Amino acid sequence: MRIHLVNPSDISFGTAVITPRWLYVLAAATPPRHGDPSVIDETLDPMDFDSIAPGDVVGIGIHTFNALRGYEIGREARKRGARVIFGGIHPTLFPEESFELGGAHAVVKGDGDLIWRDVLAACEAGTLLPIYDGGRVSGTTFQPARWDLLPAARYMFGSVQTLRGCPKHCSFCSVWRTDGQQPRQRTADAVIKEIVELRRMGFRFILLSDDNFYPVTVEDLRLAERQGNRARIESLMEIRRERFELMERLAKLPDDLVFYTQITMEAAEDTEFLRAMNKAKIRGALVGVESVTAEGLKAIFKDFNYAGDKLVARLKEFRKHGVHILGSFIFGLPTDKLETFDATAELAQKSDIAFAQFIMLTPFPGTVDFAKWEEKMASDPTRIGGHPLTRFWLIPREQRPKVYTPHPSLSPDEIRRGTQSVWDRFYSVPAIWERARIVKSLKARILFLVMSKLYRQMYANTGIATDSARVSRSTQWARLMARPARKLFVAQPMPDLQVPN
Ligand code: SF4
Repeated sequence: MRIHLVNPSDISFGTAVITPRWLYVLAAATPPRHGDPSVIDETLDPMDFDSIAPGDVVGIGIHTFNALRGYEIGREARKRGARVIFGGIHPTLFPEESFELGGAHAVVKGDGDLIWRDVLAACEAGTLLPIYDGGRVSGTTFQPARWDLLPAARYMFGSVQTLRGCPKHCSFCSVWRTDGQQPRQRTADAVIKEIVELRRMGFRFILLSDDNFYPVTVEDLRLAERQGNRARIESLMEIRRERFELMERLAKLPDDLVFYTQITMEAAEDTEFLRAMNKAKIRGALVGVESVTAEGLKAIFKDFNYAGDKLVARLKEFRKHGVHILGSFIFGLPTDKLETFDATAELAQKSDIAFAQFIMLTPFPGTVDFAKWEEKMASDPTRIGGHPLTRFWLIPREQRPKVYTPHPSLSPDEIRRGTQSVWDRFYSVPAIWERARIVKSLKARILFLVMSKLYRQMYANTGIATDSARVSRSTQWARLMARPARKLFVAQPMPDLQVPN
């Protein structure tokens, strides 16, 4: 009984930016008696179905946007006699789909870290149940990844998780509902051990792939003080203390390491935290800016963010502390107007952010927005490829609309073209070169230029473009660039590196 773990993707680039951590976590959760699992990341190469033998187990992890490819793999694997198990956010929300469309024998909801071994034992014993619920495991029981199985020469970034969960409640995001609002932190020891292992292999760039690296804000503490809530203050201070402990430990690792993470903008007012990030070599962070207007932020329950000039000032604060920002913006909010595209492009350029992504509002399953939209669309008769719009991920890729919710003043095409034009402006060569002054040497500036272009090709054109020729050109370009670009990211392996005391 061989175990195959598959990360489905419609597009394979040959080289990938970030290691898909969950594959290697489930590999670690596979008891040794089953042998080493075969790990297949389709962002590198498509799956070879001939490797599946009758009686094997095929574990497929999906999110909404690769669900269709995941189902295709599931059906084919089942045809070849394998037991097919689905897991991930999407099957947690829609388990029935995996059975109806993906040939599933079982679905694992929630975290797979601990329950995976029970699923495999049941496969062995022939007692497999249709549904397993892994729940939310505590930070101390998160599995470390099996990096020894990684084809290291094909990735640019390692990825290590330090916590799951986010205390916020943004209406377009499913994280707080699926991973919970209570942060579940790993111990600093467990995190450092994995990073040392990755650095030994030659990874210098490591993504701290957390839902929100800054789970306790200064405002949370002030509020608890005002309420005189001692228990709350202590619990917040304990989470914060552990964050600082982790950052102190990161600071002791080799100086050539570079960390990236995800945080909320509120960290900009926490100078102590920013200084610790800087010492810890956390050089970049994804910040959800979402909207540049106050009305837009209110519409998505994110009014803890700032808008306008205050927003620019906050974003610049990160730069002052050596933390470069990948700003994430959303277009298509009900409050957006035609002028919003220009205003966002200008703000993104003047706020000293290094990278940006511009996303069209999509109601993601598991979010508050999706629940409201689904209710509103209950009587909508539209069907594309036989599917209602509220099941857009089942619509064949080339027929899938780019914009789903009607906008009070903008047409879908205006939103799509506006979004594309902002990507074009932000990633034009002169604009990138101007931003590249954040790094000093010519080599680093060239690296910045290449990375900016690569990021744009991998994440923008393939998502927004309507014509398949453009999508295919983007994919080919990214495939060509990714391999040489990888060399700029890795360093000499340090096989003797030890965990610092
Ligand atoms: S968008 Fe970010 S801050 Fe908001 S709930 Fe999701 S993870 Fe948390």
